[in-house]
Amino acid sequence: MKSLNGYEVVIGLEIHVEVDTQTKLFCSCSREYGRDPNTQVCPVCLGYPGALPVLNEEVVIQGLKVARALRSRINEVSQFFRKNYFYPDLPKGYQITQYTFSLAEDGHLEYQFEGSQRRVRVERINIEEEAAKSFHTEDGYTLLDFNRSGIPLLEIVTRPDLRSPAEARTFLAKLRQLIRYLEVSPCDMEKGHLRADANLSVHRPGEPLGTKVEIKNLNSFKALEDALTYEAQRQIQVLEAGGKVVQETRLFDESTGQTVAMRTKEEEMDYRYFPEPDLLPLNVTAYLNRFELPELPWEKSARFVREYGLREDVAEVLTQERALADYFEEMVRDLKDIAQAANWLVNRVLADIKERSLEEFPIRPSQMAELLSLVESGRITLNLAKDVYERMLQEGRSARDIVESEGLEVVSTEEELQKFVAEAVEENPELVAKFRKGKEGVIGPLIGAVMKKTRGKADPKRVRELLLKALRGGSGA
Ligand SMILES: [Zn+2]
Repeated sequence: MKSLNGYEVVIGLEIHVEVDTQTKLFCSCSREYGRDPNTQVCPVCLGYPGALPVLNEEVVIQGLKVARALRSRINEVSQFFRKNYFYPDLPKGYQITQYTFSLAEDGHLEYQFEGSQRRVRVERINIEEEAAKSFHTEDGYTLLDFNRSGIPLLEIVTRPDLRSPAEARTFLAKLRQLIRYLEVSPCDMEKGHLRADANLSVHRPGEPLGTKVEIKNLNSFKALEDALTYEAQRQIQVLEAGGKVVQETRLFDESTGQTVAMRTKEEEMDYRYFPEPDLLPLNVTAYLNRFELPELPWEKSARFVREYGLREDVAEVLTQERALADYFEEMVRDLKDIAQAANWLVNRVLADIKERSLEEFPIRPSQMAELLSLVESGRITLNLAKDVYERMLQEGRSARDIVESEGLEVVSTEEELQKFVAEAVEENPELVAKFRKGKEGVIGPLIGAVMKKTRGKADPKRVRELLLKALRGGSGA
């Protein structure tokens, strides 16, 4: 939906990522998910007067990884601020966040979307604390769980560079992939590790930007795309009817697929930001040498094309997840036909892997390599390999075991058999010499040697005939 009724859609995202640390941002409480409510709390994250925050340095390092991967300008000195507002899930009456002197600014993320190269600017990256979680009961009460209070978040704010709901979804997926690669967060959206607020406005090309509306707390890819699609259409309808779009914050109701007004947007000054007096300015420079970036998804994908000669789309799929890319590389280490192995993984196995997650997937890369090497050596056909693969999944047996115990192998051709016979003759000069001196009984061990080479997939009678022919008729000895 590049343009609707001649309108252009302009979207910016504000993304919150829960950082995968042992403890919370300013206290030593665990941030483990799913424990009993209010069991992971202390005076700091309950906001008791006089309790002092102590910064979790791991969060700074994880934030810097993201900043560097997004090519941001890292501020040498950063500062925490208090954002003041009242809400039951915010016991201190303010949230410790960043305002001016963000951790990093002016980054970008590039990706392919609908056939063109896109670049979305990242305005700033902030470290901030999470609020507690509210539960609204059916009988009208609100319960609060402070386990979530003070969990570390990264706030990643884009410029309004996205041009459609589908592109916003793609961008979020790319960002999620990157953050998972960096091992900053598993970004499990069902656990609230990754959430987005979106700003959307519509305008006619050539005219000034329209009034933007913020949609809060979009916690799935589908919700993001659906909410933005609805909101764009709503704004266009308002304008087409001669009305004006009101600047406000809206919520997306997944059950109706609509956004509903929540409140008119606060101005920044309403929050009375001021520097957090209990925390020193953050000397970011001191952290810059304390981490290294892993190979990033787009670097890995480019390397797969270069090193393995894969098609770009195949490389893209195989590098979606770091674990999958590792699986592929381990699998092809000793294989010759890498394109075949890549296609096999993408077309045959990927769906099974995704269903269970790679950690639970029962077939290890070396086992998969064994299966494919049976194909490479011509001992089983690709078609048969598909059946063997299914049985490996179901029975947990190795490919070789299944193929050998069930006699699934391609029977050696006459030509191969000749080759094995010649090899056996060459490799056993002593036996051959004995045979030629009249000890014909040694034909037994020679037949055994050939049978071993064919892995039992030949007729011993025929082997005997070929051997006798080679030993008697041969002039080579
Ligand atoms: Zn605490």
